[in-house]
Amino acid sequence: MPGFEIFGAEEKQQVLEVLDSGVLFRYEFAAQRNNVWKVLEFERAFAAYTGAAHAQAVTSGTAALKVALAALGVGAGDEVVTQGFTFVATWEAILDCGAIPVFTEVDWTLNMDPADLEKKITPRTKAIIPVHMMGAQARIGEIKAIADRHAIPVIEDTAQAAGGRLNGRHLGTFGAVGTFSFDAVKTMTTGEGGMCITNDAGLWQRMSEYHDHGHDHVPNPGGRGGEGRPFIGFNYRMMEIQGAIGLAQLAKLDTIVAEQKKNKQFFQEAVRVLPGVRFREILDPEGDSATFLTFMLPDKERTTAVNQVLRDQGVGAVRWSENGWHYYPNWEHLLEGKTYCQGGWPFAAHGKRRIVYDPQALPQSAAILERTLTYQVPILLADEQKAKIAAALQQAARI
Ligand SMILES: *Cc1c(COP(=O)(O)O)cnc(C)c1O
Repeated sequence: MPGFEIFGAEEKQQVLEVLDSGVLFRYEFAAQRNNVWKVLEFERAFAAYTGAAHAQAVTSGTAALKVALAALGVGAGDEVVTQGFTFVATWEAILDCGAIPVFTEVDWTLNMDPADLEKKITPRTKAIIPVHMMGAQARIGEIKAIADRHAIPVIEDTAQAAGGRLNGRHLGTFGAVGTFSFDAVKTMTTGEGGMCITNDAGLWQRMSEYHDHGHDHVPNPGGRGGEGRPFIGFNYRMMEIQGAIGLAQLAKLDTIVAEQKKNKQFFQEAVRVLPGVRFREILDPEGDSATFLTFMLPDKERTTAVNQVLRDQGVGAVRWSENGWHYYPNWEHLLEGKTYCQGGWPFAAHGKRRIVYDPQALPQSAAILERTLTYQVPILLADEQKAKIAAALQQAARI
């Protein structure tokens, strides 16, 4: 999965061009920079790759979500619906706007269950954030149809699915905004970094201005304009060195996905020996970015026993139900409303807590995730490692 597995001469060359220019900042310094504009070039290349009209680079995938929410005008007292199986960043960004995250069940896609989304929408819902977890598609068509019926914008958290598609169309291009992460463990990486894509020129302009302290970008779209300030912003600007690495990694993305597909095939065949196994529902295998192979065993006990054998052999699978960073009942700091704010904002006003999260609130997700195991699919997979995994699975199949 991580793009750093194949760092090479291309990344080095790109970074050297920035260092030779002497300018690390994405805006201004036109006279000094020898016409090197790596972040701008990366944005244009990323938009062209995904087929979106516009792209806005930012400092992280979390910042991308925050910038998208801010551009959509989400703030205090609003509700934003997302899924109870995602990385904490998705709801951290919601809380950081002062808004309240509301969680849906996941279904066998391990992404947002549209039937539950319908139930979680209220008059206060201001955005919906389905997540394309583990490289593959949420039911974005159904989710978008529900959102459209209620006139609520959709942000696709595509942090884990760069290079993924649904029926030929890039993930991240279905909603109002698609957000991406290029952190250390993502399919393509810039060390830290993120991107927002959109077809809406107005939204793009707001994202561009918000991420740059509210500098107006009006006379010079995508770049600094005059000295006007349409609103109060923040600083989520990407550096030129990150943009440079992004260009090199983006050029490799299709190759990365193709290699992962081959390795995922290996995992799928090896796992098939387990009695009663079923696989995560993938809506469009062709468009899967193949970062993970996820499977389910008949019940919780069997899943524990099988993974114990795999762990004993040094090739244990990820058990998301035990993971503290991706699964709702394990987010004790959220459940307990532990914010940095002594007054308890945004859960509480004047010391009185208004929002209470019940750890038992997502029984369908629990029933699926207790039975779920996942292997991360690397880009490079040695034959000895394959043999070790296949042998361990054979052994686990016999218990
Ligand atoms: C990684 C990730 C993020 C956050 O990205 P960062 O670049 O680490 O801030 C957001 N959402 C999901 C689903 C992620 O996996």
